[in-house]
Amino acid sequence: MLIDLRQLAGGEEFDADVCVVGAGAAGISIARELGATGHSVLLAESGGMQYELPTQALYSGAETGTLLSPKTQYLGTSRLRYLGGTTGHWNGWCRRLDPDDFSLRPWVDEVGWPISRDDLEPFYERAAPIVQISAFDYDEETAGVGPKLLPGDEVFETSYFHLSPPTRFGTVYQDELERSDSIRVLLYANVRVIDLDEQASHVSGLEVVRLDGVSFPIRARHFVLATGAIENARLLLANTDVQPNGIGNDWDQVGRYFMDHPFLEMGYMALPYWRHLLPRNYAKAYVKSRGNSIHGILRVRAAVQSRERLLNALIIFRPLPNATRRPLATAVAKFTAGQHALRGEALAKPGSTYYGRVMVHGEQTPNPESRVHLADEVDGLGMRKTRLDWRLRDRDARSLVETAKLFARRLGLHGHGRMRFTAKEHDLWPRADWSWHHIGTTRMHDDPRRGVVNADCRLHGIDNLFVAGSSVFTTAGASNPTFTIVALALRLSDHLKKLLA
Ligand SMILES: Cc1cc2nc3c(=O)[nH]c(=O)nc-3n(C[C@H](O)[C@H](O)[C@H](O)COP(=O)(O)OP(=O)(O)OC[C@H]3O[C@@H](n4cnc5c(N)ncnc54)[C@H](O)[C@@H]3O)c2cc1C
Repeated sequence: MLIDLRQLAGGEEFDADVCVVGAGAAGISIARELGATGHSVLLAESGGMQYELPTQALYSGAETGTLLSPKTQYLGTSRLRYLGGTTGHWNGWCRRLDPDDFSLRPWVDEVGWPISRDDLEPFYERAAPIVQISAFDYDEETAGVGPKLLPGDEVFETSYFHLSPPTRFGTVYQDELERSDSIRVLLYANVRVIDLDEQASHVSGLEVVRLDGVSFPIRARHFVLATGAIENARLLLANTDVQPNGIGNDWDQVGRYFMDHPFLEMGYMALPYWRHLLPRNYAKAYVKSRGNSIHGILRVRAAVQSRERLLNALIIFRPLPNATRRPLATAVAKFTAGQHALRGEALAKPGSTYYGRVMVHGEQTPNPESRVHLADEVDGLGMRKTRLDWRLRDRDARSLVETAKLFARRLGLHGHGRMRFTAKEHDLWPRADWSWHHIGTTRMHDDPRRGVVNADCRLHGIDNLFVAGSSVFTTAGASNPTFTIVALALRLSDHLKKLLA
């Protein structure tokens, strides 16, 4: 059932088994799961059915850091505040985190995740139909179509993204939410206050407030924050009545380790002989394989990342515009002549060369100084705004460059082509883009001094407050986050079902 709070007189109270805050990918996934087993769910959503400026303005704030400045519009444009959340924007690129993303990698950070990829595997399977992709063969040898780039290479492996249509959660699941007897979606319900008991060990209720200031109390047995990684931290930090540093923030961990994936062009490549072989998987965005739309990428194998002390990163190819091809052509002509002599093969015919941009989508190290703070200024509801300070490190830049250099070397070594390297480590960040992936800020760790939630996504020290979304990721990996957000949401739903049973 959908309830528009603007239609109510005020003073109404709500209660349920579980209250989920935020109706994006994470919140809707949890509400559907719990609703299907007959548990009563309140899904408190700040917005209505579409983008509306007064509600979206609640996301505004101040931004600083390596790629951010007062001129960038990161906080306002990388999130959406209405039913379905930021899935109204997303492009649908889905890929699991890699097994090594969960491990303790001392060159990345001093902590690993308290769970493994194996723990998430059954939930990835259940997450696939929710984002409208089908089960997929991830095996390097058999997945995809056509031959592989750098086949059998000891440094790089091929892997794949799945392309979701992309699923707009608000549109796709609206009917189901509307028809549900167990789920009540409260629209225009901005959660502002989280009430803790005096011992700060239990959430007794929430207060949701409309834009006109009229508020409604909510009671539930369990509460889940699913408002996105920046807002989850902001809500915890802004509630200081019982815990003066913010909820769950005794160890000053809330808001820290904010991450995104830097994405940038490292150079151009030419594959003279390989046009007919260049697997369509890599060259085109949407190749159908066994009922799936997929996109091939290259990744440095885990063992090589460990040996070279590299962060995880994905190499993605984009077609090179015609105008940029000319400077490469001379180098390619020399190269093909050399290849011809070496192999005794026919010279590459004009037009048979594939020209591409070599892009790297990389992990950043978890950095405690990269964080969500509260600004002094307040929003329209009187809540302190976000001040985001997103910081990348020199070693993040070094890893991106080293990954691209490795690729250039392997390309040459195999005799497949040439890469013209344009990126410079000391001047990397001005050419980098962000990926709109907000990660970290309430990270998962068994020790409350090093993380905000435990392996069940429950806040340390509070028995009924949980967090869903990429704020709980301990490391960012190189994959886009939403597929993992949905998998973790399903895992949390199963945990809540056990608690409610
Ligand atoms: C342009 C763009 C492209 C992207 N492409 C991809 C991609 O290809 N692949 C991928 O994996 N990811 C992609 N993403 C990221 C993806 O959109 C997010 O990872 C995903 O939407 C996060 O889901 P979520 O449920 O955690 O948060 P959201 O989807 O942001 O949902 C949070 C919800 O909480 C609500 N809310 C916020 N504050 C409150 C409050 N105080 N009270 C009540 N409700 C509140 C919001 O209104 C919103 O509905 C992209 C993002 C952008 C911007």
